[in-house]
Amino acid sequence: MIESDVLVLGGGPAGGAVAIGLRRLGYSVTLIGEPRPFDAVEGISDRVIQGMKGAGFNIALNEMADPSPRQVTWNGVTSAANTERLVPRQRFDQALLVDLSEQGVQVIQGRVKTCQAEGSRHIAEVALAEGGEQQLSASFLVEARGRAAPAAGVPRVKGAQTVSLLQYWQGPQAESRSAVQSFEDGWAWMAMRNDGRRYLQLTLDVASANLPPKRELGDWCRARLEQLEQAQPFIEGAEPAGDVYARTSTPVLCEHSAGDSWIRVGDAAMAVDPLSGNGIFQALSSALQAPAVVNTLIRHPERAELAKAFHEARIEGLFYRFARIGRDFYAQETQWPLRPFWQERSQWPDSQPLHLEVTPDQVSIGMRPVVQDGVITEAPVVITPDQPLGIWHLNGLPLAPLLEAVRAESDRTADEVLADSLGDDNGRRLALWMQNQGWI
Ligand code: FAD
Repeated sequence: MIESDVLVLGGGPAGGAVAIGLRRLGYSVTLIGEPRPFDAVEGISDRVIQGMKGAGFNIALNEMADPSPRQVTWNGVTSAANTERLVPRQRFDQALLVDLSEQGVQVIQGRVKTCQAEGSRHIAEVALAEGGEQQLSASFLVEARGRAAPAAGVPRVKGAQTVSLLQYWQGPQAESRSAVQSFEDGWAWMAMRNDGRRYLQLTLDVASANLPPKRELGDWCRARLEQLEQAQPFIEGAEPAGDVYARTSTPVLCEHSAGDSWIRVGDAAMAVDPLSGNGIFQALSSALQAPAVVNTLIRHPERAELAKAFHEARIEGLFYRFARIGRDFYAQETQWPLRPFWQERSQWPDSQPLHLEVTPDQVSIGMRPVVQDGVITEAPVVITPDQPLGIWHLNGLPLAPLLEAVRAESDRTADEVLADSLGDDNGRRLALWMQNQGWI
Protein backbone atom coordinates (compact mmCIF):
# COMPACT_ATOMS: atom_id res chain seq x y z
CA MET A 1 0.00 0.00 0.00
CA ILE A 2 1.38 3.42 -0.97
CA GLU A 3 0.50 6.05 1.64
CA SER A 4 0.51 9.80 1.13
CA ASP A 5 -1.18 12.93 2.47
CA VAL A 6 -3.18 13.53 -0.69
CA LEU A 7 -4.35 11.30 -3.52
CA VAL A 8 -5.14 13.01 -6.84
CA LEU A 9 -7.23 10.96 -9.28
CA GLY A 10 -6.63 12.08 -12.90
CA GLY A 11 -3.60 13.71 -14.49
CA GLY A 12 -5.13 16.41 -16.72
CA PRO A 13 -4.54 20.15 -16.27
CA ALA A 14 -6.77 20.39 -13.18
CA GLY A 15 -5.29 17.40 -11.31
CA GLY A 16 -1.79 18.50 -12.35
CA ALA A 17 -2.25 22.08 -11.09
CA VAL A 18 -3.63 20.96 -7.72
CA ALA A 19 -0.92 18.30 -7.27
CA ILE A 20 1.89 20.83 -7.88
CA GLY A 21 0.17 23.42 -5.67
CA LEU A 22 -0.10 20.93 -2.81
CA ARG A 23 3.55 19.87 -3.18
CA ARG A 24 4.49 23.55 -2.89
CA LEU A 25 2.56 23.66 0.38
CA GLY A 26 4.62 20.72 1.66
CA TYR A 27 2.20 17.77 1.27
CA SER A 28 3.17 14.35 -0.02
CA VAL A 29 1.03 13.86 -3.12
CA THR A 30 0.38 10.77 -5.24
CA LEU A 31 -1.38 11.24 -8.58
CA ILE A 32 -2.89 8.42 -10.57
CA GLY A 33 -3.26 9.12 -14.25
CA GLU A 34 -4.36 7.09 -17.21
CA PRO A 35 -3.61 8.44 -20.69
CA ARG A 36 -6.76 9.56 -22.49
CA PRO A 37 -8.01 6.74 -24.76
CA PHE A 38 -8.19 8.98 -27.86
CA ASP A 39 -5.95 11.72 -29.18
CA ALA A 40 -7.68 15.07 -29.28
CA VAL A 41 -6.36 18.38 -30.47
CA GLU A 42 -7.70 21.39 -28.60
CA GLY A 43 -7.30 25.12 -29.10
CA ILE A 44 -6.18 27.50 -26.37
CA SER A 45 -5.54 31.22 -26.09
CA ASP A 46 -2.47 32.96 -24.70
CA ARG A 47 -4.01 33.56 -21.29
CA VAL A 48 -4.01 29.77 -20.78
CA ILE A 49 -0.24 29.82 -21.33
CA GLN A 50 0.07 32.32 -18.46
CA GLY A 51 -2.05 30.06 -16.25
CA MET A 52 0.08 27.03 -17.12
CA LYS A 53 3.31 28.89 -16.38
CA GLY A 54 1.91 29.90 -12.98
CA ALA A 55 0.84 26.31 -12.34
CA GLY A 56 4.38 25.03 -13.04
CA PHE A 57 3.73 23.19 -16.34
CA ASN A 58 7.24 23.78 -17.70
CA ILE A 59 7.79 20.69 -19.85
CA ALA A 60 4.17 20.42 -21.01
CA LEU A 61 4.43 23.98 -22.33
CA ASN A 62 7.02 22.75 -24.86
CA GLU A 63 4.23 20.77 -26.53
CA MET A 64 2.44 23.99 -27.35
CA ALA A 65 2.38 24.97 -31.02
CA ASP A 66 2.86 28.61 -32.05
CA PRO A 67 -0.37 30.54 -32.51
CA SER A 68 -2.06 29.79 -35.85
CA PRO A 69 -4.87 31.66 -37.64
CA ARG A 70 -8.46 30.89 -36.72
CA GLN A 71 -11.35 31.68 -39.06
CA VAL A 72 -14.90 31.92 -37.73
CA THR A 73 -18.07 31.73 -39.85
CA TRP A 74 -21.01 32.50 -37.60
CA ASN A 75 -24.41 33.92 -38.51
CA GLY A 76 -23.29 33.93 -42.14
CA VAL A 77 -20.35 36.29 -41.52
CA THR A 78 -16.72 35.20 -41.78
CA SER A 79 -13.98 36.80 -39.70
CA ALA A 80 -10.33 35.89 -39.40
CA ALA A 81 -9.27 38.25 -36.66
CA ASN A 82 -7.87 35.89 -34.06
CA THR A 83 -5.44 33.04 -33.49
CA GLU A 84 -5.25 30.02 -31.23
CA ARG A 85 -2.63 27.47 -30.25
CA LEU A 86 -3.34 23.86 -31.12
CA VAL A 87 -2.58 21.42 -28.29
CA PRO A 88 -2.12 17.71 -29.02
CA ARG A 89 -3.70 16.49 -25.80
CA GLN A 90 -2.10 13.03 -25.56
CA ARG A 91 1.43 14.44 -25.86
CA PHE A 92 0.60 17.40 -23.64
CA ASP A 93 -0.87 15.21 -20.89
CA GLN A 94 2.12 12.85 -21.05
CA ALA A 95 4.55 15.78 -20.70
CA LEU A 96 2.49 17.05 -17.78
CA LEU A 97 3.15 13.81 -15.91
CA VAL A 98 6.89 14.42 -16.36
CA ASP A 99 6.44 17.94 -14.93
CA LEU A 100 4.66 16.44 -11.94
CA SER A 101 7.40 13.88 -11.26
CA GLU A 102 10.07 16.57 -11.51
CA GLN A 103 8.23 18.64 -8.92
CA GLY A 104 8.06 15.85 -6.40
CA VAL A 105 4.60 14.41 -7.09
CA GLN A 106 4.57 10.62 -7.06
CA VAL A 107 2.99 9.67 -10.38
CA ILE A 108 1.36 6.27 -10.82
CA GLN A 109 0.37 5.46 -14.39
CA GLY A 110 -2.73 3.33 -14.31
CA ARG A 111 -6.48 3.19 -14.09
CA VAL A 112 -8.37 3.85 -10.86
CA LYS A 113 -10.75 0.92 -10.55
CA THR A 114 -12.37 1.85 -7.26
CA CYS A 115 -11.94 4.48 -4.58
CA GLN A 116 -13.62 4.24 -1.20
CA ALA A 117 -13.50 5.94 2.18
CA GLU A 118 -12.44 3.58 5.00
CA GLY A 119 -12.43 5.32 8.36
CA SER A 120 -10.41 8.48 7.94
CA ARG A 121 -8.58 7.20 4.79
CA HIS A 122 -9.43 7.10 1.10
CA ILE A 123 -8.31 3.82 -0.47
CA ALA A 124 -7.89 3.52 -4.25
CA GLU A 125 -7.44 0.27 -6.18
CA VAL A 126 -5.39 0.88 -9.31
CA ALA A 127 -4.75 -1.33 -12.35
CA LEU A 128 -1.19 -0.35 -13.20
CA ALA A 129 -0.28 0.48 -16.81
CA GLU A 130 2.76 -1.81 -16.55
CA GLY A 131 0.54 -4.67 -15.31
CA GLY A 132 -0.53 -5.71 -11.83
CA GLU A 133 -2.49 -3.84 -9.22
CA GLN A 134 -1.66 -1.37 -6.48
CA GLN A 135 -3.52 -0.05 -3.45
CA LEU A 136 -3.05 3.57 -2.48
CA SER A 137 -4.22 5.39 0.59
CA ALA A 138 -4.40 9.03 1.70
CA SER A 139 -6.29 11.14 4.19
CA PHE A 140 -7.40 13.61 1.49
CA LEU A 141 -8.78 12.94 -1.99
CA VAL A 142 -8.77 15.22 -5.05
CA GLU A 143 -11.18 14.01 -7.74
CA ALA A 144 -9.84 15.28 -11.11
CA ARG A 145 -10.83 12.54 -13.57
CA GLY A 146 -12.56 15.08 -15.79
CA ARG A 147 -15.89 14.13 -17.31
CA ALA A 148 -15.06 10.48 -16.56
CA ALA A 149 -15.24 11.08 -12.78
CA PRO A 150 -17.96 8.90 -11.24
CA ALA A 151 -21.09 10.96 -10.64
CA ALA A 152 -23.69 8.40 -9.54
CA GLY A 153 -25.78 9.98 -6.80
CA VAL A 154 -24.10 13.39 -7.24
CA PRO A 155 -26.74 16.12 -7.73
CA ARG A 156 -25.87 17.99 -10.92
CA VAL A 157 -27.15 20.89 -13.02
CA LYS A 158 -27.08 20.00 -16.71
CA GLY A 159 -27.48 21.93 -19.94
CA ALA A 160 -28.83 20.51 -23.20
CA GLN A 161 -27.41 17.08 -23.97
CA THR A 162 -24.61 17.66 -26.43
CA VAL A 163 -22.20 15.37 -28.26
CA SER A 164 -19.08 16.17 -30.27
CA LEU A 165 -18.13 13.72 -33.02
CA LEU A 166 -14.51 13.89 -33.89
CA GLN A 167 -12.33 12.24 -36.46
CA TYR A 168 -8.78 12.54 -37.71
CA TRP A 169 -8.17 13.02 -41.39
CA GLN A 170 -4.80 12.92 -43.09
CA GLY A 171 -3.82 15.01 -46.09
CA PRO A 172 -0.80 16.79 -47.56
CA GLN A 173 1.36 19.07 -45.41
CA ALA A 174 -0.14 22.54 -44.98
CA GLU A 175 0.01 25.64 -42.80
CA SER A 176 -1.44 25.10 -39.31
CA ARG A 177 -4.81 26.72 -38.82
CA SER A 178 -8.31 26.22 -37.50
CA ALA A 179 -11.85 27.23 -38.40
CA VAL A 180 -15.32 27.29 -36.86
CA GLN A 181 -18.57 27.20 -38.81
CA SER A 182 -22.16 27.08 -37.64
CA PHE A 183 -24.78 25.05 -39.51
CA GLU A 184 -28.44 24.43 -38.95
CA ASP A 185 -27.96 21.55 -36.48
CA GLY A 186 -24.77 22.55 -34.71
CA TRP A 187 -21.27 23.78 -35.37
CA ALA A 188 -17.97 22.43 -36.64
CA TRP A 189 -14.46 23.03 -35.35
CA MET A 190 -11.69 22.06 -37.71
CA ALA A 191 -7.97 22.15 -37.13
CA MET A 192 -5.00 21.31 -39.32
CA ARG A 193 -1.44 20.80 -38.14
CA ASN A 194 1.46 21.40 -40.50
CA ASP A 195 2.18 17.65 -40.74
CA GLY A 196 -1.11 17.36 -42.68
CA ARG A 197 -3.09 15.86 -39.82
CA ARG A 198 -6.58 17.31 -39.62
CA TYR A 199 -8.95 17.16 -36.72
CA LEU A 200 -12.63 17.57 -37.59
CA GLN A 201 -15.26 17.92 -34.91
CA LEU A 202 -19.04 18.30 -35.23
CA THR A 203 -20.97 19.40 -32.13
CA LEU A 204 -24.64 18.38 -32.13
CA ASP A 205 -27.78 18.10 -30.03
CA VAL A 206 -28.16 14.49 -28.84
CA ALA A 207 -31.97 14.53 -28.90
CA SER A 208 -32.51 16.05 -32.34
CA ALA A 209 -29.43 15.06 -34.38
CA ASN A 210 -30.91 11.73 -35.57
CA LEU A 211 -27.52 10.07 -35.46
CA PRO A 212 -27.13 6.85 -37.45
CA PRO A 213 -25.72 3.56 -36.03
CA LYS A 214 -22.02 3.70 -35.12
CA ARG A 215 -20.80 1.95 -38.28
CA GLU A 216 -22.41 4.66 -40.44
CA LEU A 217 -21.12 7.63 -38.46
CA GLY A 218 -18.05 8.15 -40.68
CA ASP A 219 -20.15 8.58 -43.84
CA TRP A 220 -22.66 10.69 -41.96
CA CYS A 221 -19.95 13.11 -40.75
CA ARG A 222 -18.33 13.26 -44.19
CA ALA A 223 -21.66 14.22 -45.77
CA ARG A 224 -22.10 17.06 -43.23
CA LEU A 225 -18.56 18.31 -43.70
CA GLU A 226 -18.85 18.30 -47.49
CA GLN A 227 -21.70 20.80 -47.16
CA LEU A 228 -19.64 23.27 -45.11
CA GLU A 229 -17.70 25.91 -46.99
CA GLN A 230 -15.07 26.29 -44.26
CA ALA A 231 -14.46 22.54 -44.20
CA GLN A 232 -13.30 22.38 -47.80
CA PRO A 233 -9.61 23.27 -47.21
CA PHE A 234 -9.55 20.66 -44.43
CA ILE A 235 -11.03 17.75 -46.40
CA GLU A 236 -9.80 18.39 -49.96
CA GLY A 237 -7.12 15.85 -50.84
CA ALA A 238 -7.49 14.29 -47.38
CA GLU A 239 -9.05 11.06 -46.10
CA PRO A 240 -10.30 9.90 -42.68
CA ALA A 241 -7.55 8.22 -40.67
CA GLY A 242 -9.53 6.39 -38.02
CA ASP A 243 -12.97 5.95 -36.55
CA VAL A 244 -15.30 8.65 -35.37
CA TYR A 245 -15.01 9.20 -31.62
CA ALA A 246 -17.96 10.62 -29.69
CA ARG A 247 -17.18 12.97 -26.76
CA THR A 248 -19.91 14.09 -24.40
CA SER A 249 -19.91 17.86 -24.27
CA THR A 250 -23.06 18.58 -22.24
CA PRO A 251 -22.50 21.43 -19.75
CA VAL A 252 -22.60 20.02 -16.23
CA LEU A 253 -22.12 21.40 -12.71
CA CYS A 254 -21.85 19.28 -9.54
CA GLU A 255 -23.88 20.95 -6.81
CA HIS A 256 -21.37 19.83 -4.18
CA SER A 257 -17.70 19.98 -5.05
CA ALA A 258 -16.09 19.83 -1.62
CA GLY A 259 -16.39 17.81 1.58
CA ASP A 260 -14.29 17.67 4.76
CA SER A 261 -11.69 15.34 3.20
CA TRP A 262 -12.32 15.55 -0.56
CA ILE A 263 -12.65 18.06 -3.35
CA ARG A 264 -13.63 17.95 -7.04
CA VAL A 265 -11.72 20.15 -9.49
CA GLY A 266 -11.73 20.85 -13.22
CA ASP A 267 -14.24 19.04 -15.43
CA ALA A 268 -14.97 16.67 -12.55
CA ALA A 269 -16.57 19.63 -10.74
CA MET A 270 -18.05 21.45 -13.73
CA ALA A 271 -17.60 21.21 -17.45
CA VAL A 272 -18.81 23.65 -20.06
CA ASP A 273 -19.77 23.49 -23.70
CA PRO A 274 -16.63 23.33 -25.87
CA LEU A 275 -17.89 26.35 -27.83
CA SER A 276 -16.21 28.67 -25.37
CA GLY A 277 -12.82 27.05 -26.15
CA ASN A 278 -12.12 27.75 -22.50
CA GLY A 279 -12.21 24.28 -20.95
CA ILE A 280 -8.52 24.12 -20.09
CA PHE A 281 -8.57 27.70 -18.81
CA GLN A 282 -11.56 26.89 -16.65
CA ALA A 283 -10.01 23.66 -15.39
CA LEU A 284 -6.90 25.61 -14.36
CA SER A 285 -8.96 28.41 -12.80
CA SER A 286 -10.91 25.96 -10.69
CA ALA A 287 -7.69 24.21 -9.67
CA LEU A 288 -5.38 27.09 -8.85
CA GLN A 289 -7.15 28.08 -5.63
CA ALA A 290 -7.92 24.50 -4.66
CA PRO A 291 -4.58 23.87 -2.85
CA ALA A 292 -5.48 26.65 -0.39
CA VAL A 293 -8.91 25.05 0.13
CA VAL A 294 -7.35 21.61 0.74
CA ASN A 295 -4.70 23.13 3.03
CA THR A 296 -7.43 24.80 5.09
CA LEU A 297 -9.53 21.64 5.31
CA ILE A 298 -6.49 19.67 6.54
CA ARG A 299 -4.80 22.21 8.82
CA HIS A 300 -7.73 24.37 9.96
CA PRO A 301 -10.76 22.08 10.23
CA GLU A 302 -12.47 24.82 12.27
CA ARG A 303 -12.68 26.78 9.00
CA ALA A 304 -14.00 23.84 6.96
CA GLU A 305 -17.39 25.44 6.21
CA LEU A 306 -15.73 28.64 5.02
CA ALA A 307 -13.28 26.74 2.78
CA LYS A 308 -15.96 24.52 1.24
CA ALA A 309 -18.27 27.49 0.65
CA PHE A 310 -15.38 29.38 -1.00
CA HIS A 311 -14.62 26.51 -3.39
CA GLU A 312 -18.23 25.77 -4.27
CA ALA A 313 -19.08 29.43 -4.86
CA ARG A 314 -16.12 29.81 -7.19
CA ILE A 315 -16.94 26.64 -9.14
CA GLU A 316 -20.55 27.75 -9.51
CA GLY A 317 -19.53 31.31 -10.45
CA LEU A 318 -17.17 30.03 -13.17
CA PHE A 319 -19.78 27.64 -14.52
CA TYR A 320 -22.50 30.27 -14.90
CA ARG A 321 -20.09 32.86 -16.28
CA PHE A 322 -18.99 30.51 -19.07
CA ALA A 323 -22.50 29.18 -19.61
CA ARG A 324 -23.72 32.76 -20.20
CA ILE A 325 -20.79 33.53 -22.50
CA GLY A 326 -21.79 30.43 -24.50
CA ARG A 327 -25.49 31.43 -24.50
CA ASP A 328 -24.68 34.91 -25.85
CA PHE A 329 -22.49 33.47 -28.59
CA TYR A 330 -25.21 30.98 -29.59
CA ALA A 331 -27.74 33.83 -29.62
CA GLN A 332 -25.59 35.70 -32.16
CA GLU A 333 -26.42 32.94 -34.65
CA THR A 334 -29.90 33.93 -35.85
CA GLN A 335 -30.27 31.95 -39.09
CA TRP A 336 -32.06 28.94 -37.57
CA PRO A 337 -33.91 30.23 -34.46
CA LEU A 338 -36.44 27.38 -34.51
CA ARG A 339 -33.97 24.53 -34.88
CA PRO A 340 -33.76 22.68 -31.52
CA PHE A 341 -29.95 23.01 -31.33
CA TRP A 342 -30.04 26.82 -31.50
CA GLN A 343 -33.33 27.46 -29.75
CA GLU A 344 -32.32 25.70 -26.55
CA ARG A 345 -28.72 26.88 -26.34
CA SER A 346 -29.44 30.55 -27.02
CA GLN A 347 -31.61 30.65 -23.86
CA TRP A 348 -29.79 28.44 -21.39
CA PRO A 349 -28.93 28.77 -18.48
CA ASP A 350 -31.11 31.87 -17.90
CA SER A 351 -31.73 35.38 -19.17
CA GLN A 352 -29.38 37.14 -16.76
CA PRO A 353 -26.93 39.39 -18.63
CA LEU A 354 -23.28 38.35 -18.47
CA HIS A 355 -22.45 41.65 -16.78
CA LEU A 356 -24.89 43.47 -14.54
CA GLU A 357 -25.07 47.27 -14.37
CA VAL A 358 -23.64 48.49 -11.07
CA THR A 359 -24.72 51.69 -9.35
CA PRO A 360 -23.13 53.03 -6.12
CA ASP A 361 -26.19 52.23 -4.00
CA GLN A 362 -25.83 48.51 -4.86
CA VAL A 363 -22.19 48.35 -3.76
CA SER A 364 -21.52 47.11 -0.24
CA ILE A 365 -18.59 46.04 1.90
CA GLY A 366 -18.73 42.71 3.70
CA MET A 367 -16.63 39.85 5.01
CA ARG A 368 -16.05 37.05 2.50
CA PRO A 369 -13.64 34.10 2.22
CA VAL A 370 -10.36 34.90 0.41
CA VAL A 371 -7.03 33.12 -0.12
CA GLN A 372 -4.27 34.49 2.09
CA ASP A 373 -0.86 32.84 2.55
CA GLY A 374 -2.11 29.49 1.28
CA VAL A 375 -5.23 29.28 3.47
CA ILE A 376 -8.82 30.44 3.26
CA THR A 377 -9.57 33.24 5.64
CA GLU A 378 -12.15 36.04 5.86
CA ALA A 379 -11.46 39.60 4.80
CA PRO A 380 -13.48 42.73 3.99
CA VAL A 381 -14.24 42.86 0.26
CA VAL A 382 -16.30 45.05 -2.07
CA ILE A 383 -19.49 43.26 -3.14
CA THR A 384 -21.48 44.25 -6.22
CA PRO A 385 -24.30 42.59 -8.19
CA ASP A 386 -21.70 41.77 -10.85
CA GLN A 387 -19.13 40.43 -8.35
CA PRO A 388 -21.21 38.73 -5.64
CA LEU A 389 -18.15 36.90 -4.27
CA GLY A 390 -16.48 40.24 -3.70
CA ILE A 391 -13.30 41.95 -4.86
CA TRP A 392 -10.54 42.02 -2.33
CA HIS A 393 -7.42 43.38 -4.02
CA LEU A 394 -6.53 45.29 -7.15
CA ASN A 395 -2.82 45.06 -8.02
CA GLY A 396 -2.09 44.30 -4.36
CA LEU A 397 -4.26 47.16 -2.99
CA PRO A 398 -7.01 46.11 -0.56
CA LEU A 399 -10.07 47.86 -1.99
CA ALA A 400 -12.64 47.75 0.82
CA PRO A 401 -10.80 50.19 3.18
CA LEU A 402 -10.11 52.56 0.27
CA LEU A 403 -13.77 52.60 -0.79
CA GLU A 404 -14.77 53.11 2.84
CA ALA A 405 -12.44 56.12 3.09
CA VAL A 406 -13.94 57.65 -0.07
CA ARG A 407 -17.47 57.16 1.23
CA ALA A 408 -16.62 58.63 4.64
CA GLU A 409 -15.52 61.96 3.17
CA SER A 410 -18.40 63.28 1.13
CA ASP A 411 -16.99 66.83 1.14
CA ARG A 412 -13.82 65.80 -0.75
CA THR A 413 -13.50 64.19 -4.20
CA ALA A 414 -12.47 60.53 -4.49
CA ASP A 415 -9.21 61.67 -6.17
CA GLU A 416 -8.32 63.75 -3.14
CA VAL A 417 -9.17 61.07 -0.59
CA LEU A 418 -7.29 58.32 -2.44
CA ALA A 419 -4.29 60.63 -2.99
CA ASP A 420 -3.79 60.69 0.81
CA SER A 421 -2.69 57.06 0.85
CA LEU A 422 -1.71 56.41 -2.80
CA GLY A 423 -0.24 59.71 -4.05
CA ASP A 424 -1.78 61.97 -6.70
CA ASP A 425 -1.34 59.83 -9.83
CA ASN A 426 -2.33 56.48 -8.34
CA GLY A 427 -5.16 58.10 -6.40
CA ARG A 428 -6.57 59.61 -9.61
CA ARG A 429 -6.22 56.30 -11.47
CA LEU A 430 -7.99 54.31 -8.78
CA ALA A 431 -10.79 56.91 -8.48
CA LEU A 432 -11.36 56.66 -12.24
CA TRP A 433 -11.36 52.86 -12.04
CA MET A 434 -13.93 52.92 -9.21
CA GLN A 435 -16.11 55.29 -11.26
CA ASN A 436 -15.88 52.98 -14.28
CA GLN A 437 -16.96 50.05 -12.10
CA GLY A 438 -20.01 52.05 -10.95
CA TRP A 439 -18.82 52.05 -7.31
CA ILE A 440 -18.79 55.84 -6.78
P1 FAD B 1 -9.16 16.07 -18.20
O1 FAD B 1 -8.26 16.88 -19.04
O2 FAD B 1 -10.26 15.34 -18.85
O3 FAD B 1 -8.23 15.08 -17.38
C1 FAD B 1 -8.74 13.98 -16.68
C2 FAD B 1 -7.70 12.89 -16.71
O4 FAD B 1 -8.15 11.82 -15.89
C3 FAD B 1 -7.47 12.30 -18.11
O5 FAD B 1 -6.10 12.21 -18.36
C4 FAD B 1 -8.11 10.93 -18.02
O6 FAD B 1 -7.49 9.99 -18.88
C5 FAD B 1 -7.88 10.60 -16.55
N1 FAD B 1 -8.79 9.57 -16.05
C6 FAD B 1 -10.11 9.44 -16.28
N2 FAD B 1 -10.57 8.33 -15.66
C7 FAD B 1 -9.51 7.78 -15.03
C8 FAD B 1 -9.33 6.64 -14.21
N3 FAD B 1 -10.36 5.83 -13.91
N4 FAD B 1 -8.11 6.37 -13.74
C9 FAD B 1 -7.06 7.17 -14.01
N5 FAD B 1 -7.16 8.28 -14.77
C10 FAD B 1 -8.37 8.56 -15.27
N6 FAD B 1 -10.85 22.98 -23.89
C11 FAD B 1 -10.09 23.97 -24.42
O7 FAD B 1 -9.48 24.73 -23.67
N7 FAD B 1 -10.01 24.14 -25.78
C12 FAD B 1 -10.68 23.33 -26.65
O8 FAD B 1 -10.58 23.49 -27.88
C13 FAD B 1 -11.50 22.29 -26.12
N8 FAD B 1 -12.19 21.47 -26.93
C14 FAD B 1 -12.99 20.51 -26.38
C15 FAD B 1 -13.76 19.70 -27.22
C16 FAD B 1 -14.61 18.75 -26.70
C17 FAD B 1 -15.45 17.92 -27.62
C18 FAD B 1 -14.68 18.57 -25.29
C19 FAD B 1 -15.60 17.55 -24.69
C20 FAD B 1 -13.91 19.36 -24.45
C21 FAD B 1 -13.07 20.33 -24.98
N9 FAD B 1 -12.30 21.16 -24.15
C22 FAD B 1 -11.54 22.15 -24.70
C23 FAD B 1 -12.37 21.02 -22.69
C24 FAD B 1 -11.11 20.36 -22.09
O9 FAD B 1 -10.87 19.12 -22.70
C25 FAD B 1 -11.37 20.14 -20.61
O10 FAD B 1 -12.10 21.20 -20.05
C26 FAD B 1 -10.08 20.02 -19.79
O11 FAD B 1 -9.23 19.05 -20.33
C27 FAD B 1 -10.44 19.65 -18.36
O12 FAD B 1 -9.29 19.35 -17.64
P2 FAD B 1 -9.36 18.33 -16.41
O13 FAD B 1 -7.99 18.22 -15.89
O14 FAD B 1 -10.44 18.72 -15.50
O15 FAD B 1 -9.84 16.95 -17.06
